[in-house]
Amino acid sequence: MRLVLLGPPGAGKGTQANMLKESLSIPHISTGDILRERVKDNSPIGRKARQFISQGELVPDDIVIEIVMDRLKAADVKSGFMLDGFPRTRLQAEALSRALKKLNISIDLVVYFKTQPETSIRRLGGRRICSQCQANYHVQNMPPQKQGICDQCGGALYEREDDKEETVRNRLDVYFRETAELIDYYREKGLLRTLSGDKEAKEVFAILMALFKQEGLMPSCQ
Ligand code: AMP
Repeated sequence: MRLVLLGPPGAGKGTQANMLKESLSIPHISTGDILRERVKDNSPIGRKARQFISQGELVPDDIVIEIVMDRLKAADVKSGFMLDGFPRTRLQAEALSRALKKLNISIDLVVYFKTQPETSIRRLGGRRICSQCQANYHVQNMPPQKQGICDQCGGALYEREDDKEETVRNRLDVYFRETAELIDYYREKGLLRTLSGDKEAKEVFAILMALFKQEGLMPSCQ
C-alpha cells in the first residue's frame, strides 16, 4: 500500500503512521524525522535545514525532494510506504508524481487529516517524542507508562524545539499558505479521502482501517 498522509502539524499523522506500521508492515517515511536526524548528525543537509526547522519554516524544496528520492530507492519501499509530511508544496507533489511514474508505481490514497488549529496547538504543546524510535506521546492524552521513557524501545522522550506555541502558530500559517492547496491537487486526481484529525487516536485508527478495507487495499480478514 502506498499512502500519503496530509494535514496540518499536530493532526496526528505521525501517531497514526506509528500505529499503522505494525498492521501494514510498510515503512513510515517522515521527512521531518529524516531532517531532524540530519540536524543531529550535523551533516551538510542538517546544517542547511536547522534554521528553517527551528523557525517553523519549510526547508527548501530541492533539499527535501532529494531526501525523498533517495529514500524511495531503498529496498524496503517495494512493499509500499507511508509518506508523512511530504509533499508539502506543489513542486514537491509534482516531483513525487514524476519519480513514482519512473518507478512505474503510483499512490493508492492520500488521507487528509482535517484538523482544527486549536487541536494542533493543544496537541503539540504537550507532545513528547522518543529520541530513538520517534514514537509520539502526549503528556495528557497519551502518556507513556513510565514518565519520560518510550514504551516501545525504552528511549528517552524529549520536547521538540519547534513545538513552542509561537513556532506552532507559524507552522500552521506556513501549512495554510504552502501545503493546503495540495488538498485540491489530490482531490482532482481522485485520490483524496478526508477524515477528522480532531478525534482521538484510537478512533482515527479504526476509521483508517475501515477505509483501507472499503478501498480494497487490505484483505477483509485483517
Ligand atoms: P514535521 O516533523 O513534519 O512537523 O516537520 C518538521 C519541520 O521539518 C517542518 O516544520 C519543516 O521545517 C521541515 N520539513 C519537514 N518536511 C518538510 C517538507 N516536505 N518540506 C519542507 N520542509 C519540511
